[in-house]
Parts: sequence; structure tokens; C-alpha cells
Amino acid sequence: MTKKTLGLDSQLYNYLVSVSLREPEILRQLREETASYPDAQMQIAPEQGQFMALLVQLLGAKKTIEVGVYTGYSSLITALNVPADGRIVACDFSEEYTAVARRYWKAAGVADKVDLRLAPALDTLNDLLSAGEAGTFDFVFIDADKEGYENYYSLSLQLVRSGGLIVVDNVLWSGKVADSQIQDEDTQALRAFNEKISHDERVSISLVPIADGLTLARKR
Ligand code: CA
Repeated sequence: MTKKTLGLDSQLYNYLVSVSLREPEILRQLREETASYPDAQMQIAPEQGQFMALLVQLLGAKKTIEVGVYTGYSSLITALNVPADGRIVACDFSEEYTAVARRYWKAAGVADKVDLRLAPALDTLNDLLSAGEAGTFDFVFIDADKEGYENYYSLSLQLVRSGGLIVVDNVLWSGKVADSQIQDEDTQALRAFNEKISHDERVSISLVPIADGLTLARKR
């Protein structure tokens, strides 16, 4: 197969950022603060965040779910791009990291839009289904433990409306998914997830090679 997608070296990546990144000041501050924390690689790339903001705008999303919050960069983006009566159900179990997220939601004036659920995400997603919210969400972002992806996706698919979008992060996993020598649990889980969704006729998909790889799945 001929390779059609351009690989980005540092020079080209810096060019891309220089001609396209419009990162609001509050997001830049959060990104810089997060860079000093352990697990800072868990934060999404700023150009990826901008892409997701555009998706939220295009969808006219109002009800959204965030599976995995960390310090809140992507949930803050979503909150800034849904209308005033929009809602983000934010799932995470870290008090420590979500305290940072809460501080920034508040500073950005969007704290009222975020419904933080400090619990295992599977419990929260099941609670939403039990509460009769199936088919009512416009947008879900999944970026949490990789072994949980299949379950998060399966519940999210029930929660989004027809035409709603599920966005899944890290699907290229620094390239490890394509290297058969690498067999750790996270890599295997992502490989299995990618394989399964590639045949899932309930959704239209695209795997976008931005940042660490982002799969978009639109519910039919
Ligand atoms: Ca991620």
C-alpha cells in the first residue's frame, strides 16, 4: 500500500502549529501547569484539542461525556464550545487531578456546565443508562485506561443519539499497535479495540492520525 499520510517531523509539526493553532490563554495556562505533573503525557495535544473543539461546534453538541478527565484540558475545551445550557458529564476517580480541572473550569466561567462524577466511569455510564439517558448525548470523548475502551465504547454507543459522535484517543499508541513484537496489555487492548470497531456497522468511522491517533465514530 502506498503511504499517503504525511509523517510530521519537528520542523513540519512546528509549522503546522505556527499557522493554525489558536489556543485560548486559559488552555495554554492549564497545559503549562499540567506539564509539570507526573503523567503529563496524558494530556492531549493542543492541535488535537482545537480539532475536537471544531467537531463539537460542527455537531452543535449540547450534551457530552468525557471518559477520563485528568487535569481537564479536553473537558475545558468541550465546555467552552457547548452552549450556555450545555452539559458535560465528566468521569474520573482522581480527586487530585480533577481538583486542577475544577479550578480551571471555574476560572473559565464554565464550571456550571460540568457534572463531575468521581467514580469508575463504567458505573457512571451505567447510571446514565439507568436514568433513561440512552440516545440523548451528542458527543463522547474516551481517553482513559485502555483495557476499559471496549466497555466504554459499547456503553457510549448506547448513550449517543443517532448522528452523535464518539471520539477515542490514543488508538495509534505511539505506533506500538502496529508492532507485533509488543504484547503488553494496553497495546493488546487497543489492537483489539481497533480491530473490533473497524467492523462495527453501527457506526461510520475515520481513524485520524493526529497526535497519538484519534478514531471518530458517528452513530448511524
Ligand atoms: Ca490520551
